[in-house]
Amino acid sequence: MKLRTLKDVDIKGKTILYRAPYDIGVEEKDGVLVVKDDLRIRGTLPTLRYLVEQKCKIVILTYVKRPDGQVVEKLRTTPHANKLAELLGQPVLKVDDCIGEEVEKKISAMKEGEILMLENVRFYKEENEDDDEFAKKLCKGKDVIVFDGFPQAMRIHSSTTGIERHLPAVAGLYLEEEVSMLSNLLENPVRPFTVIIGGAKISDKVDAVNNLLKMADKVLVGGAVANVFLKAQGRSLGQSFIEDVFVDSKRREKRDWVEYAKEILEKYKEKIVCPKDAVISNGAEVRNLNFSSEKMPDDFSALDIGPETVKYFEEIIKSSGTVFLAGPMGKFEDEKFAKGSEEIILAMKQVKGQTIVAGGDSIDMVQRYGSLKDFSHISLAGGATLDFLAGKELPALLPLIEKGK
Ligand code: ADP
Ligand code: MG
Repeated sequence: MKLRTLKDVDIKGKTILYRAPYDIGVEEKDGVLVVKDDLRIRGTLPTLRYLVEQKCKIVILTYVKRPDGQVVEKLRTTPHANKLAELLGQPVLKVDDCIGEEVEKKISAMKEGEILMLENVRFYKEENEDDDEFAKKLCKGKDVIVFDGFPQAMRIHSSTTGIERHLPAVAGLYLEEEVSMLSNLLENPVRPFTVIIGGAKISDKVDAVNNLLKMADKVLVGGAVANVFLKAQGRSLGQSFIEDVFVDSKRREKRDWVEYAKEILEKYKEKIVCPKDAVISNGAEVRNLNFSSEKMPDDFSALDIGPETVKYFEEIIKSSGTVFLAGPMGKFEDEKFAKGSEEIILAMKQVKGQTIVAGGDSIDMVQRYGSLKDFSHISLAGGATLDFLAGKELPALLPLIEKGK
């Protein structure tokens, strides 16, 4: 998939409605509200710097969390504006609304290269309803949309699909990078292509896994997700966390993940690689257990992949042309169960080909055992990343796609 970007159009001197991906929570530090995490703000700096260079007036639109159509003091975009100003090294103006006269006045007073942060668009209940009149008001006084709201691209909201009905839209550089790196996994990864799936729940990732299984050469399974596969292989797992049945309330269906794992283990025999051993614990004692030669004691849980599995996974990773990781290999928050995740991250750092990481806990893990720069791409969009990899249509991307690409 290829998107039309801000570099494909003449944007010089235009007033931009910049749809930012700043749905970032805040916390209080020394009596001041600050953003909890600035990765998504850092991710947008190349787009914003380019727009400043092009002498645009930049009006930033985003929602923050779920104020449910009311003004919630703690969910203003002021901390986001402050962090952006600090990272850009340039003042960012702030207005306490996103539509109306005050906003219009501020925009008409803006000079070339200035940036204005609008207030949280979810302070209006119309936002989540994709209200067309409201979307029109959001577009007033702007010439073109630069869309970087990849984490919000699955939403049918006024600030996503709504605005795109009223103004021409192009992708920003952050969105372009996400889409080109993730498309590459689905369309033409350098082989061998290895996918590593970990984390707690298979239900979060199942659609993405199903789609990636078609393209990948190997899918390595770790974390609690591996427990589902091990159970499907008939292993006993004691007290291990296993998401074996999941009720999808939206689809009103129950899915038995162990049955699912049995089916795909059969279908993709050559591709799926399960752990051979684990680090297990009963709270007091921590030791290794080999699944083929030992039975798990009833009062123990599997909390990390074991050393033999690490070695086996490492060999596959190091000979890969492309590696995609989603989810830690164990309960890595506890040092005793972090070794597997650490070794896998270190192995990925040595890969000469493309390395891509997605997911909040996975990104924490990368930062703990290395630097984000050691990887080809860090996907910051959470659920949207997984939807994209599952091959689902993200409505806000549709108007940005180059026809035939
Ligand atoms: P991401 O945020 O990268 O998508 P997830 O949220 O899916 O990752 O999974 C991370 C969580 O999975 C962590 O809280 C971790 O403790 C948990 N986890 C991983 N392996 C295990 C395990 N064997 N048993 C219990 N929890 C696990
Ligand atoms: Mg997580």
